Amino acid sequence: MRTKSLFIGGGWCEPVEGGTREILNPATNGILDEVGDGSARDAERAIVEARKAFDAGPWPRMRAQERAALLFKLADRIDAEAASLAALETRNNGKPLREAAGDVADAANCFRYYAGLITKPLGQTYEVPDPSILSMVVREPIGVCAQIIPWNYPLLMAAWKLAPGLAAGNCCILKAAEATPLTAIRLFELIEEIGFPSGVAQLLLGPGATVGQALASSHGVDKVAFTGGTATGRRILAASAGNLKKVTLELGGKSPNILFEDADLSIALEYALFAIYAGQGEVCSAGSRLLVQRSIADRLLPALADAAGRIVVGDGMIPGTEMGPLVTPAHLERVMTFIDSGLTEGAELLTGGSRLTAGDLARGNFLAPTIFVNTRPDMRIVQEEIFGPVLAVQLFDDEAEAVRLANNTVYGLAGGVFTRDGAKGLRVLRQLRAGITWLNTYHPTFNEAPWGGYKQSGTGRELGTWGLEAYLETKQINVNLNPQPLGWYRQGGSN
Ligand code: NAD
Repeated sequence: MRTKSLFIGGGWCEPVEGGTREILNPATNGILDEVGDGSARDAERAIVEARKAFDAGPWPRMRAQERAALLFKLADRIDAEAASLAALETRNNGKPLREAAGDVADAANCFRYYAGLITKPLGQTYEVPDPSILSMVVREPIGVCAQIIPWNYPLLMAAWKLAPGLAAGNCCILKAAEATPLTAIRLFELIEEIGFPSGVAQLLLGPGATVGQALASSHGVDKVAFTGGTATGRRILAASAGNLKKVTLELGGKSPNILFEDADLSIALEYALFAIYAGQGEVCSAGSRLLVQRSIADRLLPALADAAGRIVVGDGMIPGTEMGPLVTPAHLERVMTFIDSGLTEGAELLTGGSRLTAGDLARGNFLAPTIFVNTRPDMRIVQEEIFGPVLAVQLFDDEAEAVRLANNTVYGLAGGVFTRDGAKGLRVLRQLRAGITWLNTYHPTFNEAPWGGYKQSGTGRELGTWGLEAYLETKQINVNLNPQPLGWYRQGGSN
């Protein structure tokens, strides 16, 4: 077993209860590594260390510039080994190497962004009616922050959580996803080498139901930031109620990508594929519903099916691979269940729908890029997040119907519109009940811009200045510049 699994209180340690977990390569289901698998008792140990670090340690009291210097170093270290981190991510998560390389660069830049941001003006002063009072607002870290992340962007999600949390002066406990801990372990090796103070950044591995739940319910934790499924988010919110933690939830989606007849169809078609098949569709903001104006359906759909069928599916480590395997056999099974439900409910497969098993693919969790047509809005494949390479096509006649269908799920994470009519595009985006929207593009994500959802896609925002806000408390300070007896009580000042 790896000796480096849990990073608690400034050092690597084994799980108290001695659990282990095999980590598999989704392209082959071969064992990549064996890591420690923690329990609630490990979470409790980490919380004690984080409390010590926050309540009495240097980190929250340090100058922002000093914290920033360490975060800049971390960004540089990530960049310096970008190629090996990307390869590790691909082997563990499955996504093609070019996507993993993008994640690594984004992760480094996320640390850089927040290292820069935290040294910029944060507080406020303002005039109040009493001329003897100087009133101001200062921003302070929230405290001990639990950060629970999913398996689809293992390194990038760690960066999205740790960068703003640490920059703001919090002590962070990251809980990696069970299946994909390897890049997070490497990140914490870098954190150790750079020399962050003990207990400031800690890493837990282990099941969500025990380790994650212990973090979410602990009264020693002041904030929980969670990215994952909506059902889990609900559980975390309930568990957080005991001490009324601050909670940020980045949850699932069923995002619409709307193609109007006046779009540049060749561009729109390529983006429609990218929207759903990037990251094997295991992307919260995936354009998993393609809304197509009926007048162009006959032209567009055969071309779409043809292009989807030609996507090169394979081991993400092989140059030229355009889509990798699903993360685990269990997840592949879950996605297949959705495909069965689509067929049972009467949708029609335009392409895909089955596992790919030719040659070496038989060992891995490969699924053909899949497209359903003849769907109805009430079908499970239209309403529920599949989190795989499965696209549901819906047809519409006009702008009003497009908006109505687009908003007709419990989710509200993202959405795209393709049209040459800029005013129409903007009009439709403004009507989407979603937090992340794109006109004539899909998926670009920026450290500078807020990330998060409407409706059951979550609460709060990550990234940008909004992401820093989510890790800061707000304190007003009122200073009497001219203290005089108050004269409020008769005996006041008479002794
Ligand atoms: P998941 O909800 O099963 O697990 C996410 C994390 O939560 C894991 O670390 C898991 O161990 C932990 N967890 C599970 N049960 C828990 C509990 N009871 N208490 C505390 N922690 C618990 O999600 P997943 O399958 O790993 O990831 C896929 C989901 O993540 C999808 O729904 C996807 O949409 C969502 N996601 C959202 C965003 C976003 O920014 N909105 C980004 C990426 C992924």
